[in-house]
Parts: sequence; C-alpha cells; structure tokens
Amino acid sequence: MIKRILCLVMVVAVISLSVYLLSESVGQSTDFRDMDFGEGRLEKLYDFSKNSHLDFYQLLATSMFRVNIPNKKLEELYRMVLGDFKCFPIPADQKTGKLEVAYENSWKEQRSYGGERVHEGCDIMGTNRPSGYYPVISVSDGVVEKIGWLKLGGWRIGIRSKSGVYFYYAHLNDYFKKFKEGEEVKAGQILGFMGDSGYSEVEGTTGNFPSHLHFGVYIRTDLSDEVSINPYYILKFYEKDLVYYSYINR
Ligand SMILES: [Zn+2]
Repeated sequence: MIKRILCLVMVVAVISLSVYLLSESVGQSTDFRDMDFGEGRLEKLYDFSKNSHLDFYQLLATSMFRVNIPNKKLEELYRMVLGDFKCFPIPADQKTGKLEVAYENSWKEQRSYGGERVHEGCDIMGTNRPSGYYPVISVSDGVVEKIGWLKLGGWRIGIRSKSGVYFYYAHLNDYFKKFKEGEEVKAGQILGFMGDSGYSEVEGTTGNFPSHLHFGVYIRTDLSDEVSINPYYILKFYEKDLVYYSYINR
C-alpha cells in the first residue's frame, strides 16, 4: 500500500515538474515562436471572443496548446505579444482606403549576408515607389530603446512596449525626426520612412536590396533577454487596425 502511494506521489511529482518546465520554457519553444496560427484563425477567435465575451488570449492559449492543458503562461505570453499591438506598421492610403504593401511568411528563411543565419522577422514590401515614400509607424506605445546604424539593419529604430516587447524597424530611408533613446512614442506615430539602407559597415549605404521594412518582434522570457518571434500572422491580424495617411504630397 505504502509503495503504491509512493509511486503515485512520484508520478504526480514528475507530471508537475514536466508541466512546470514546459511552462517555463514555452516562450523559447519553436511552437510558440513560429506563431503559426494559420490564415484566418486569429480573426475567427477574435470575433468569437467578442460575440461570446470570452477572453481572447485565454481562448487563444487554450486553442493553441498542444498538450491540451489550459496554460496560464502561454496566455500571458500571447497577451504580452499581441496586446501591445495597436496598428499595422505601414499606413493605408487615405484616399483609396487601401494598404499598398505585400509581405509573406519568410520566417526562418536562409540569409547569408553577415554569415549564415535565418530570417528573424517579416519583410514588408511597397509597390514600385521610391525609398522614403511609405511612412513607418509605431505599432505600439513605448519607448525608443535603440536608434542609429546597424550593419545588418541599416538605419533602424527599436521601440520597447509597456509589456516589454521589443519592436524592431530596419532598413529605414530616414527618420521622421531626431529621436532620442528613452523618448516616449505613441502607437500610430511616424518613426521614419521605408527604405533600403543596410548590409554594410558604412553608415548610410543603400541599394543593396529592394526597399522594404524589415519588422522584427522580440520578447524577454524567463530564460533569455532576446527571443525573436514570427510577426507574419500577427501582422495579418492587425491589418484590421489600419492608420490612414495622405500620400498625395509625397
Ligand atoms: Zn528582413
């Protein structure tokens, strides 16, 4: 009898430990970082949550967790990543109401400049417009954490949102104004303009690739200060929250 009880205690301990470890590392897991919701899933869940008055992030966590255990940690992570997003990073045309950009899921595609690596972000391409045409706007409220030239990212700006998500905007043509590190920005505020800067040690180098916005999303987890996650499905979802801009004079 005592043996049986001991066995049971052991089993419960092992299960608890596994769930704990799973929960601690969920932010690092490939499953989580891929953010592979599939086309339309976020939209459907969002509508369902609105109609049913159920919490969107709770529904999301429950629907995504593979082992079928409602996971508080996963819910918190989704709330952090998606909750600070307020709008799509390129404004739509006020006149036509349309968003003139294209992007695909290029998460983890191979890149070779600066050594073999995988693509940690999403490239948003404009139509045939010159560099400097499309404004790049902040998707969240937050604070300017990093600004200036990077060999890979060119002219870049990084905004840390309230929940601690780091939004990275790279290859800018120019900045909207002289931002200072620590300065507060609001969602929808223009940060700079889409461009083709980067892929060089030499500040100001342009033209090494077509003009686009490289958009990256990074979070801090219990185990690491910088974990990149796939922005693609999140961007698709936030096409519902467009900011409109008058492109007439540009
Ligand atoms: Zn990119």
